[in-house]
Amino acid sequence: MRLSVIGTGYVGLVAAVCFADLGHDVIGVDRDAERIRALQAGRSPIFEPGLEELLARGAERKRLRFTTDTAEAVRESEVIFITVGTPSLESGDADVTAVAAVAETIAESLRDYRLIVEKSTVPVRTGERIRDQIQLLTGGTVPFDIASNPEFTREGSAIYDFMHPDRIVIGVQSERAERLLREVYRPFDCPLLVANLATAELIKHASNAFLAMKISYINAVANVCERVGADVRMVAEGMGHDDRIGRAFLNAGVGYGGSCFPKDVAAFVRIAHEAGYEFRLLEEVARVNETQRDLLVRHLKDALWVLANRIVTVFGLAYKPNTDDMRDAPSVPVIERLVREGAQVRACDPVAEANARRLLPDIAYYADPYEAARGSDAVVLMTEWDEFRKVDLARLREIVRRPVLIDGRNLFDPEQARALGFHYVGMGR
Ligand code: NAD
Repeated sequence: MRLSVIGTGYVGLVAAVCFADLGHDVIGVDRDAERIRALQAGRSPIFEPGLEELLARGAERKRLRFTTDTAEAVRESEVIFITVGTPSLESGDADVTAVAAVAETIAESLRDYRLIVEKSTVPVRTGERIRDQIQLLTGGTVPFDIASNPEFTREGSAIYDFMHPDRIVIGVQSERAERLLREVYRPFDCPLLVANLATAELIKHASNAFLAMKISYINAVANVCERVGADVRMVAEGMGHDDRIGRAFLNAGVGYGGSCFPKDVAAFVRIAHEAGYEFRLLEEVARVNETQRDLLVRHLKDALWVLANRIVTVFGLAYKPNTDDMRDAPSVPVIERLVREGAQVRACDPVAEANARRLLPDIAYYADPYEAARGSDAVVLMTEWDEFRKVDLARLREIVRRPVLIDGRNLFDPEQARALGFHYVGMGR
């Protein structure tokens, strides 16, 4: 099938290369000319495991090309996916300006029937709004359908997730739209849920908010564990064996971040409010998440007494491993606070350094964790990269000035760390 994907960021680029690998002819569109030039040259502007290989394969098989021209993509594709960003506004509402802009450009170029699919995470009823605006702009002269097809991939394993979906959700208003989307996803053997537009949109909000809630739940439990001498990791394991609960997303730590959970929880609270329901449960989810960052800083201060002039080495900057995404990464507010209180911060991250430098220009960056930690007063683990899991704690103990290890992701073995002489503090252990 001939498809286009408008917005080649973390979601759109993954979708584009995967659709091409499934055998579709795909055009990736972005308004960012520099991004498109990089993609045309076979370079990925983002880090995502496996992406560059699929990019090369798509180009080699001539199934994948990139352009800045949305009109060209609309002319040449049967199905158009919108995957532009929907960041948070100050109010917590999702900013749908980019979606609206793309809808307008599509309307201007529409000559024959097209299926327009929103894949960006958008407030419920956005599909209807896109439909109404296109209808207004085209005067109802061209047939088209709107569908919703929320994306559930995780950054860091997005290619794998895309190619091995646990379910595909489509929200449609016509049989033709359903038929086309079934055809797009024909290679997959997983449940395909067909719903109306609003239901499909809501499945995405409800899923992300639920996952965020699981994280905040275990973090709240971790706070109780700390006070009563229980170990939250064992608690999570004990809970997780129950299939009704499941072990995933029960990892206590410094809290969730990234471009999705914080903004999607805030947006769902706003959507519910607009609809006349105060979703207090989710407001608390966000609040618990914020307090985990304070808790980590408190653990550090308890260990170091004062932060002024202490050298603090931060292991990991990205909001989670296997990504270079720094959007809403918990490391940023934590480091800003340490700097404000006078600490000298050194940081080390396997791939997020370039993005981090834009947000945190005044700290020292190191490629090697041991070099970063040499002579420091504390090591704080913020992202559970494998590189840090493999750190030799005995060697680390030899080179630090004060043996303080604050484990914001419960990555290390407390007994081993303590046996080596570290003042080890995890989250809820
Ligand atoms: P992103 O910021 O990485 O990418 C968005 C891209 O859209 C950028 O390259 C930008 O230049 C481009 N763009 C913006 N306006 C445009 C326009 N008018 N025409 C053409 N291109 C335009 O965002 P992302 O992380 O890929 O997220 C996209 C959407 O998918 C968001 O709604 C997000 O909530 C949702 N989502 C993201 C993830 C994830 O893992 N990042 C997962 C599921 C859903």
